[in-house]
Amino acid sequence: MDSRAGRSIGSRLASGGSRAVRGSRRDLRGMLRRISLAVGWFAAGCQTLPRTPPFEHQTHAGSVRARTEPEARSVALQAEEIAAMLRDGLGVPIEPRYSIYVLDEELTGPGAGVRVWRDRGGVTQRRIEIGRGIREEALPATLVHELTHWYMTPPWDRLPVALEEGFADFVTLMLAPGSRPGRFERYRQVLSDPAWPDPRKLLSVTRREAPRVPRRVREKAYAIGYILTHKIGIDPLRQLCSRSGEAGFDQIPPDALLASAGMSREQTAWLQALEVIVEEELANGTGQ
Ligand SMILES: [Zn+2]
Repeated sequence: MDSRAGRSIGSRLASGGSRAVRGSRRDLRGMLRRISLAVGWFAAGCQTLPRTPPFEHQTHAGSVRARTEPEARSVALQAEEIAAMLRDGLGVPIEPRYSIYVLDEELTGPGAGVRVWRDRGGVTQRRIEIGRGIREEALPATLVHELTHWYMTPPWDRLPVALEEGFADFVTLMLAPGSRPGRFERYRQVLSDPAWPDPRKLLSVTRREAPRVPRRVREKAYAIGYILTHKIGIDPLRQLCSRSGEAGFDQIPPDALLASAGMSREQTAWLQALEVIVEEELANGTGQ
């Protein structure tokens, strides 16, 4: 997915994204306590099992459940369109079928996420949950971000967990450019924080270790992952994933990532890289 393709896709999505998602949402109840693990760094932060929304709309790529039929249909059409773009951009099949729940309840943290339920036999259920706190205008960007996580199938499963959030942000900002200014400001804040982690250590965190990484460190992964993805590019990153898998690595080694991006561990280098990227992105006319 080069940036020119991204821009045309972005404008398509921006026009498609204005489709209204209607239907008030209320009711809140959660009963069954389960073990859930987030894919990526933040769980959709609700430890109980939310009530299943009553209406379902199926499309080729997956299903959407929501409180009203029009809402389920509207979200399903948007998700279907995004899935087709991700298939082309990431070079993955549109599978497994996604399952999206537009919930009546607030989710803590980012307000949406991929949740996974496991038992001893492995994954029993996996779905994207979108909480009530996600505003209608933020829905297209949220769907792109969460569906990007969803399609992190081979060879993308070799992306370090600390890079996956920034990678999902990169795809989101390309397809839904309206969310750029807010994201860039947030990146500036976290990259200016005096508590600077060693990016090599951050990039070597495993999925198992990820939930124990302090929030203040985790937040930096979005900005660091975004900058790495921007500097390396999607196709070369895909090749790095493939080669790392063939070489028997669980994740791309951090040194390979820093070398490919031409980045050092120094905080000032990351801040400077961000400013160059922001200027470039705003100059190319899509950073509205
Ligand atoms: Zn995420």
